[in-house]
Amino acid sequence: MTIRTRFAPSPTGFLHIGGARTALFSWAYARRHGGRFVLRIEDTDLERSTQASVQAILDAMRWLGIDWDEGPEFQMQRLARYKQIADQLIAAGHAYPCWATKEELDAMREQQRARGAKPRYDGRWRPERARAAGLVPPNDRPPVVRFRTPEAGEVGWSDLVKGPIAFPNAELDDLVILRADGVPTYNFGVVVDDLDMNITHVIRGDDHVNNTPRQIHIFRALDARLPEFAHVPMILGADGERLSKRHGAVSVMQYRDDGFVPEAMVNYLARLGWSHGDNEVFSAQQLIEWFDLGHVSHSAAQFDPGKLTWLNQHYIKASGDVRLAALVGPQLRALGAQFDRGPTLEPVVALLKDRATTINHLAEAAMLFYGEHAPSAALVSEHLTETVLPALRMLKARLAECSWDRPAISAAVKQVLAANGLKMPQLAMPLRVLLTGRTQTPSIDATLELLGRETVLARLSHHLDID
Ligand code: GLU
Repeated sequence: MTIRTRFAPSPTGFLHIGGARTALFSWAYARRHGGRFVLRIEDTDLERSTQASVQAILDAMRWLGIDWDEGPEFQMQRLARYKQIADQLIAAGHAYPCWATKEELDAMREQQRARGAKPRYDGRWRPERARAAGLVPPNDRPPVVRFRTPEAGEVGWSDLVKGPIAFPNAELDDLVILRADGVPTYNFGVVVDDLDMNITHVIRGDDHVNNTPRQIHIFRALDARLPEFAHVPMILGADGERLSKRHGAVSVMQYRDDGFVPEAMVNYLARLGWSHGDNEVFSAQQLIEWFDLGHVSHSAAQFDPGKLTWLNQHYIKASGDVRLAALVGPQLRALGAQFDRGPTLEPVVALLKDRATTINHLAEAAMLFYGEHAPSAALVSEHLTETVLPALRMLKARLAECSWDRPAISAAVKQVLAANGLKMPQLAMPLRVLLTGRTQTPSIDATLELLGRETVLARLSHHLDID
């Protein structure tokens, strides 16, 4: 049997952390077992579904590297199929048309509430009851189609994450499966699609546990084999509340824009509710090798932005300089970097990457070489003191002649320190200020080397060669 999983987002917003985690687990499971991963867009909520959301979801999946083998399939392109299956269910006595109006349904619920009962559809258009009550189908409006839910007994399944789950059928009423406009409801569309797409494992958030009994009834009415179900626990914020916008960025692409790299995101998402021994840092490839549903946690996962940042720092450090330069470049441009005046980007990111927690921080740090460098007058007068002036002049002369690499620059600096009886910070701080306008830079020899001899001498001249 080929394992087939799917991710079935509703395109009503961005791909959020929870959705991305569901997609990742479904994908990893299919990849782990040499199966197929299907992408299905559940766009039946006509008011809230947008093309922009579809695009945002696809972009986010591509960014994360979650590739799909089939689809995207769109439910709104399959209306004829849902109608066909609904008709089949009606013909077999598993479903029936219902003409109850909104006013009737409201009144029904009102009466139920008044006598302390749970509001539910009372089955009045079940054909035998409608006949007995003398209800005649009106011909001025189309009906919805309702599923005839068994009234007695219970329905259950053995969830691959949560274990055995059962619901009494008495808790379920005859749900609408097809609306009057021919659009399926979620529970019906999902079953028809999971069947047609031969889905073997339904992996999704546990907010759908309550829908599963209804879906199982429909599968059974269609004489279909049930897929396995795996309901993954939800994600909570640090305060124990369900993860939401209040907890900061919840859209995956917001993390990209904030300077997170996809490997960090994938690694982090994989650990949200799943574990593999003590492994905290692993690649997508390792996730595929290790992923199993048996180690999905039974309790809610907690979102920990600090851990995500820690992973991001790890992956930035481990990234090749060419790739990092490609990621940092656009951010630098957005910050107004003047590349023509600065060094090439690769050695700059190589120097700075060990301390960067995000690509954006890396870009800000790199502006040292591409941004405004003129120090304020106050900084100059604070640091360019009589004591240090002769040493700076001597250094400038040495720098004009020495070979231009870190050891030679470092040797020149040390000679000047010795000759003038100064300690490193006494010379390094004024140098930083004069050359970069900042009081914090990486080591002075590395900074000078990257700025380049021409720039260093020109900036020193500007401050030292007055008269
Ligand atoms: N469209 C549903 C959602 O986004 C899919 C649920 C499912 O996977 O069955 O929650």
